[in-house]
Amino acid sequence: MTNATSMINILVYNQYTNQMETHVRTLSQPMPYVTGNTLSVGEFRGKSNSDLIWTGNRVMESWNITRSAWGRPIYVGYAFRRIGEGGHSNQSQHYAGTAFDVAQNMGPSDRNRLRDLAASLGVWTYVEPAYLTPTWVHFDRRYGQPACSAGYPMLMQALRGVYVCTLQDALATAGIPGVGIDGVFGPATRRGVVRFQQENGLAADGIVGCQTWTRLTAMTNGILRR
Ligand SMILES: [Zn+2]
Repeated sequence: MTNATSMINILVYNQYTNQMETHVRTLSQPMPYVTGNTLSVGEFRGKSNSDLIWTGNRVMESWNITRSAWGRPIYVGYAFRRIGEGGHSNQSQHYAGTAFDVAQNMGPSDRNRLRDLAASLGVWTYVEPAYLTPTWVHFDRRYGQPACSAGYPMLMQALRGVYVCTLQDALATAGIPGVGIDGVFGPATRRGVVRFQQENGLAADGIVGCQTWTRLTAMTNGILRR
């Protein structure tokens, strides 16, 4: 368990420079790229026990715009979760560090106003409708075209970003050795993908498309709490 003074490593995909950045902060400090101390590392991490988390700078920009337009604090139940910790669908954006679940403490009318505001701002890829999440508000900012009809984008060597972090985390959780989490799809990550594909009867091309994502996320979602 981490406590309030624990150092958390935050991998941030900077979409403008196409670089992965590492920021080291305590749970009570603001998230990188957040303005006005409106979102702490602890709020973003929520109930996750991980001392390594990830997100993107444009996700934080969407937060800044939403928080500023709302004009007062937004309660954050959590945002980030590792895939092994589970609790969401197999290709959930929470495992990519790009989704928020907020406003659990608001009444229905305020919650609906915040949901409508988030949708109207145009800075989120998806705002979940009230009939799916009536007691909280979910919004997320995705990168790239989904490899399946929904979910994570196709990945291959030389790409970088939050979904590479999710991939590397899932490979390690699936027991594939030698894959570190740094958000960079290099040769070691490719070897891990090929090994996973070979072990699971998939085309061993080192490219993470719909079939590989589907098998990998189904195998690893929630596995660490079973
Ligand atoms: Zn959610």
